[in-house]
Amino acid sequence: MTIKAKVGISACLLGELVRYDGGHKHDPFLEQSLGMLFEWVPICPEMECGLGVPRPPMRLGDDPAGPRLWVIESGVEETERLLTWVARRVIELKRDGLAGFVLKCRSPSCGNGDTPVYGAQGEKVGQTQGLFARALAVHMPKLPLADEERLRESGYRQWFVKAAMAYKETES
Ligand code: SF4
Repeated sequence: MTIKAKVGISACLLGELVRYDGGHKHDPFLEQSLGMLFEWVPICPEMECGLGVPRPPMRLGDDPAGPRLWVIESGVEETERLLTWVARRVIELKRDGLAGFVLKCRSPSCGNGDTPVYGAQGEKVGQTQGLFARALAVHMPKLPLADEERLRESGYRQWFVKAAMAYKETES
């Protein structure tokens, strides 16, 4: 029997009620197209770091090369809370043998390069990875990362499946 590759996924994409407003971003296409191949490991960084549900919406600010995480309305900064959790969690993920990660587009935590970053006057100053995605890229630089929107393209989907299978083989 072939053991499925363990692939992390932003938990809201599996329908878990973890978004700031108590909702989800369930993506049935992902489950149908990749669920047979992968054992999903759902993770919500904002929930796991203790921000809870519901929580006020947040966004990235300051420098796109070193963004900070801010609550939009209050201006409270949550960067350190998230990064402290990430530092511990990526060690566990390495140990658990993840073979890839499917990330939610544009999220300040999970976005894989398309998350907007805002300046002091609320103007968009660039875009980057969310803080969790960024930490995965730093601590597990060869781990294949994908997002749910690009996975709708068959070529990209095939690349991700092959890359995750290859990563599983090399890391096991
Ligand atoms: S995008 Fe990431 S942080 Fe936001 S709800 Fe989904 S899993 Fe949680």
